[in-house]
Parts: sequence; structure tokens; C-alpha cells
Amino acid sequence: MNISILVFGSEDFLATLPDQIRYPTAFSVEIIANVNEAVSRIQVAPPDIILVQARQDGSMELCCWLKDQTKISWIYCILLEDRPQQLADRSKHSWEWELEMTSSALKQGADAYIWHLPAEKTADTSTQLNANHQLILAQLTVGLRKAQKYRDLLRTNDLLSTIALADSLTELNNRRALEWELPRQIKKARTQRDPLSLIILDVDYFKKVNDSYGHLVGDRVLQLLCARLRHSLRIQDTPFRYGGEEFVVLLANTAREEALSVARRLNRVVSEEPFAINSQLTINVTISLGAACLEPEDDEQGLTLLHRADQCLLEAKATGRNKVVSWDHISHISCLKAVSS
Ligand code: GH3
Ligand code: MG
Ligand code: MG
Repeated sequence: MNISILVFGSEDFLATLPDQIRYPTAFSVEIIANVNEAVSRIQVAPPDIILVQARQDGSMELCCWLKDQTKISWIYCILLEDRPQQLADRSKHSWEWELEMTSSALKQGADAYIWHLPAEKTADTSTQLNANHQLILAQLTVGLRKAQKYRDLLRTNDLLSTIALADSLTELNNRRALEWELPRQIKKARTQRDPLSLIILDVDYFKKVNDSYGHLVGDRVLQLLCARLRHSLRIQDTPFRYGGEEFVVLLANTAREEALSVARRLNRVVSEEPFAINSQLTINVTISLGAACLEPEDDEQGLTLLHRADQCLLEAKATGRNKVVSWDHISHISCLKAVSS
């Protein structure tokens, strides 16, 4: 595990820390003394643990800022109290005062608050220094444990989202993934003024495959078909299993003509070669495809875009199957009908 620690403080402060932090072997340590620099660094690459020198300018602001960062709330912040006034007051006050100081530091955003006695005072009282270092190391262990748990949680989350968004038979993204991705791509296309196209395709007479060879063979055909589709797509094309034997492909940064050429290629690669189920059985399959491009009046969710592509697919089915129909083609036909009637 690649654990990282950020020390917010001066070089002198670093010198007062335990050797395990000054000469790390099990984790990486970086030292920053400027609060703005520390914030930028944390935003770019959040560490697992932050050791904050209370005496350093901006230390309390850094703790407060950290407290408000929900996305990186897992960072373990250890505040080391070395402000001269506080250290002097400590010897004058009772333990209640010390508790008050601690709770105020925790309220400000630190996860742990440790009295950090100056090296010059403690050099000759090595037991005290040792105890202080032991406490810092103990808190470090708590932070490391928290980081480990957080990383495990992230890994589990990744796994769960993969399961939730993937189709187990074909390993393509599933419909839920499309419902999430389509609005995202529409937004991106509109912001960047890029074209966006969408293809819906459906296997022709697939029921016959199941009826003739059984569902297991049908499943295998779907797997082989998806692998073939995937290999024929470009890097910016994302395929989804929409349901049953229907698939959607999102074609980012793709205008009408290019979308048609992708659709025709998919049509061709499926029909030109049968699918080899085993050494004795090969099955011929064709697909019908509908293609449409994002229009300015389309809704943000992509429902009208999907609907137009679906209309095209229906037209492809109705007019013979094993072909590509694009929205242009349909609107052209309806224009012709309107003119002649
Ligand atoms: P069309 O050309 O009009 O699309 O005809 P079709 O037979 O492909 O369409 P229909 O909707 O009548 O049948 C689709 C079939 O796809 C029925 C369903 O059992 C089958 N199917 C859907 N999902 C799966 C699957 O995961 N595995 C298998 N083996 N079959 C599936
Ligand atoms: Mg079908
Ligand atoms: Mg179907």
C-alpha cells in the first residue's frame, strides 16, 4: 500500500518528529510550509495523513478547510501543538483547561491533538520526548488503519459499480450505464459543440436461434456477436447492452456520415462471417441498425435521440432487416410522402 503523509510545517519542525517520519521507509513524506501550496497539493493528490504544526502560519485555516472537504474527509489530520503561548499556559492551567484546548482543536477539524514539546526543552528529558514520539506514532498508526480501510472501501465500491453497470453475459455496459452515460455525453457534446451520434441495433430473427439450438447456444451467439462488435468499434464508441438482443452504441464526436459508416461496418462484420459455436456448429446471424444524431432540440436525457434511432431500427426491420437506416433516410421518406399526398 502506497501511504503518503504530508507534513505542514517548517524544516525545523520536521527535525522534531520521530525518525520513522523523518527517514520514512514504509510511506512517502512531503513537507510544505505554505498554506496555499498545501491546499493545492492536497487537491491534486490527497495524502492519507496530514501532520500539522500548530505554530505554522495558516495551520488552523488548513484544519478548518480540511473539515469542509467532504470528498477527502478520509484524510487523517494530526495537529501538533507547539505554539509557545499554549505550551506556557499549559503548565499554569489545570487538566480541564487542557481538555478544553483539545476539544476546541478537534472541533476545528483535527482528528487528533497532541502536545508537541520543544526539542530544546525535552532533549535532556528523553523519557518525555520518547513519550511524545510514541503518541505521534500511535496516532500515525490510527491514521494508517483509517487509510487502509478507506482504500478497501474504494476497491469494494469500484467492484460494486462494475457489477452494477456491467452486463454479466456479454461484459458490455448495461442499460443502467447507458442511462448514466447518455446525458453525460449529451452535455459534453453541447458544451464542446461536438457532434454526437447513436446507433441502436437488434439481432434479426434471434428467437429462431434459441428455438433451433437452445438458449445456451443463443447466449454464446450473443457473446461472440458482442466481441465482434467491440472489435469493430473505434476508441470513442461505447457499446451498451440495451436489453435482450438489442444494443446501443454511443459515438462521441461523430457526425451523420461517419456514424453511418460505423453502422454499415457493424452490419457487414456480423453478416459476412458465421459465428463458430463449436467445431461442428456455425450459425449465420444478421443485425438491423438505426442511426440518429443529436439535434439542438433533443432533451438532456437523450430520450428523443434514442426514440429517433429506434424509429430507424423499426424501419430497418419493416423493410427487410440486415440493413442500416438513418434518421435522414426516414425524414426524407416522410418528406416525399408529404409532397406526393
Ligand atoms: P426480430 O428480427 O424482429 O428482432 O426477431 P427476433 O426473433 O430477434 O425478435 P423477438 O423479440 O421475437 O425475439 C427476441 C429473442 O431474444 C427472444 C428472447 O428469448 C431472446 N433473448 C433475449 N435475451 C436473450 C439472452 O440473453 N439469451 C438468449 N439465449 N436469448 C435471449
Ligand atoms: Mg431481434
Ligand atoms: Mg429485440
